[in-house]
Amino acid sequence: MVQGLRQVFSEGRTREYSWRARQLEGLKRFLVEREAEILEAVAGDFSKPSEETWFTEVHYLLSEIDLQRRMLKSWMKPHRVHTPLRYQPGRSYYVCEPKGVVLVISAWNYPLQLALAPVAAALAAGNCIVLKPSELAPVTAALLSRRLPHYLDADAFKVVQGGPEETGALLAERFDHIFFTGSARVGRIVATAAAGFLTPCTLELGGKSPCIVDRDTTIDVAARRIVWAKFLNAGQTCISPDYVLVDRRVERQLLEALCRARENMYGHCSGQRPSYAKVINEHHTRRLHSLMNGVRVVCGGRVDISRCMIEPTILAGVDFSSPVMQEEIFGPLLPVIAYDTADEAAELAARTGTPLALYIFSRNRKLQRFFTGRIRSGSVC
Ligand code: NAD
Repeated sequence: MVQGLRQVFSEGRTREYSWRARQLEGLKRFLVEREAEILEAVAGDFSKPSEETWFTEVHYLLSEIDLQRRMLKSWMKPHRVHTPLRYQPGRSYYVCEPKGVVLVISAWNYPLQLALAPVAAALAAGNCIVLKPSELAPVTAALLSRRLPHYLDADAFKVVQGGPEETGALLAERFDHIFFTGSARVGRIVATAAAGFLTPCTLELGGKSPCIVDRDTTIDVAARRIVWAKFLNAGQTCISPDYVLVDRRVERQLLEALCRARENMYGHCSGQRPSYAKVINEHHTRRLHSLMNGVRVVCGGRVDISRCMIEPTILAGVDFSSPVMQEEIFGPLLPVIAYDTADEAAELAARTGTPLALYIFSRNRKLQRFFTGRIRSGSVC
């Protein structure tokens, strides 16, 4: 299969603007024409509300594709740059080129978006693609495999379903680029396999994203935003606030506001309501359940293992040696930890490594700059 794709790439059609534009058009048509099936498939994997799926998966991809379509011509043009004296009287350009055959390996938590955003980029860049969706979201993976090739150039785009074994078989092949979304553990396996071929990789990994709440902020607004961002997709979002560090002087106030916001958004029986996603499987439900050991549940906390449901849960009495602070939570548990000084908060946040995102609730610009200077992160909000 990979050799076949290499052959298609070498014939050159994927380099053409018209081919690339057609693929992006096809991807968009897939999202529009198959919207109902997509919403149903994601609900099959997560039993979550279709509004949430549309917002976080379909709409996200439509805007991504629109951007690609808008920018494609200008990205494909050679960009003239200054020529240094020693190369005069030459002219200098840089030119973006397709890489060849690209492998996209995706995670389960946003099973459509995480698979198709890198696919859109790789198509816009004129590559042939093998997509390996996550086996943990099997209904969406099956839909992608069954429908998507009909909307794209099926000679240049393949879907391979399966888990570690099938991914291992793919990694034994030479690709020209690998785009991986998932855990650091599997990221190491992917990077090691790629190194054998000197294949460049993009690794989109996880981590513990801290959320710092200073006393100089509107606590109710901070609480609402934290609850929204944390419990979207039942906390199974890579940039979800993993834990909260709060100025001790407003700790009680924040805990009360978080519980109020949680109550307003999800109600008493939030774990039972279809307007809230389930945990992906029993294994992860048990893992998350065990992270509640030895800490205080401030609100929420009910778990139904057989239905993979965990209520949106706020935790206190947590310290950095608690099990819940040893790994990325990736579920609907929110530990709140108090700090006394900004130095202490920065030191605590730095202990959990470089996060994808850092959230700061403070009106104090000096303090914002202090935290962004001390804590390295993929993005800051
Ligand atoms: P995972 O690493 O378990 O799996 C990711 C992919 O790797 C899947 O397609 C899976 O089939 C494959 N895989 C699993 N084991 C393998 C093995 N032994 N050999 C080869 N391939 C293997 O990750 P996951 O549980 O699907 O996703 C959760 C993680 O992804 C979290 O850490 C989350 O933060 C991260 N994530 C990151 C982003 C981002 O954009 N940075 C987005 C979403 C999720």
